[in-house]
Amino acid sequence: MTTRLPILAILLAALPASVALAQQPVSAIKATEVVPGIHMLEGADGFAGGNMTLLSGDEHVVLIDDGLGAMAGLLLEKTREIAGRNIDFVINTHVHGDHVGSNAHFAENGAVIVAHDNIRKRLLDNPEFAGGEGGLPVLTFSDAVTFHINGNEAYVFHLEHAHTDGDAAILFKNVNVLVAGDIQFHGLFPFIDLANGGNVAGYIAAQREMLAMIDDETRVVPGHGAITDKAGLRSDLDMLVDAHARVKALVDAGQNEEQILAANPLSIYHDDYNWGFITTERMTRTLIRSLNGDQQP
Ligand SMILES: [Zn+2]
Repeated sequence: MTTRLPILAILLAALPASVALAQQPVSAIKATEVVPGIHMLEGADGFAGGNMTLLSGDEHVVLIDDGLGAMAGLLLEKTREIAGRNIDFVINTHVHGDHVGSNAHFAENGAVIVAHDNIRKRLLDNPEFAGGEGGLPVLTFSDAVTFHINGNEAYVFHLEHAHTDGDAAILFKNVNVLVAGDIQFHGLFPFIDLANGGNVAGYIAAQREMLAMIDDETRVVPGHGAITDKAGLRSDLDMLVDAHARVKALVDAGQNEEQILAANPLSIYHDDYNWGFITTERMTRTLIRSLNGDQQP
């Protein structure tokens, strides 16, 4: 049995004080139009959780991920302002508390929570991440599910053992938008959650699978970082593939974790990709431990 750590507690503890929840509550939610009818939502002046995506229209309103629970009221207000009514469906891209934290709040306001089977399984052990038992997904899928609403086809598909073991990404085919969830941290070292079934090789395979599904015109919404495109996803993938190869060479040469950290094989990426939550050191440790099959993050 693996030790299951409280992800949100880790996340908040690891964030720099300037963006930690207690120090700087978000006072507003900012919306950016991705294409007509689809907005990306985030904290206007601080960390409200991972990026959220709102599909509004005449038939149904769908929210992909719902941020930290403490932001639920603000988020509900903002989605009503844009969509003109309550959310019908919330889709969770994965189990972390900064993506499912307002589930219970939206369920109380009429939303059906949709997620991969493994998200529900993990939330049954820790329902507080979703705001309590009311936030548990009521509709789950193993491989894929498609929504046909507002003239859009939203293809929700599972990617195995990538960021966690319950990841989903969403492709809006008609309007050419991909919501990658935390299978992309754009311009940031990614968090690959080994303790919750994530894996570096799986993460790379998942990014390749998403790349193969999109074209140069696709708008890509990452789980963290700015809205980007196919070239942006490719550059994040290229970094990770190269970082993985650099660390693998040292693991294969028989070096231990401390020797590899001292060699600092990711130094060339430090200035562009290091951030408060996933530092260059933590990224290096994750790559080593994933290569060694160690489940601890
Ligand atoms: Zn996450």
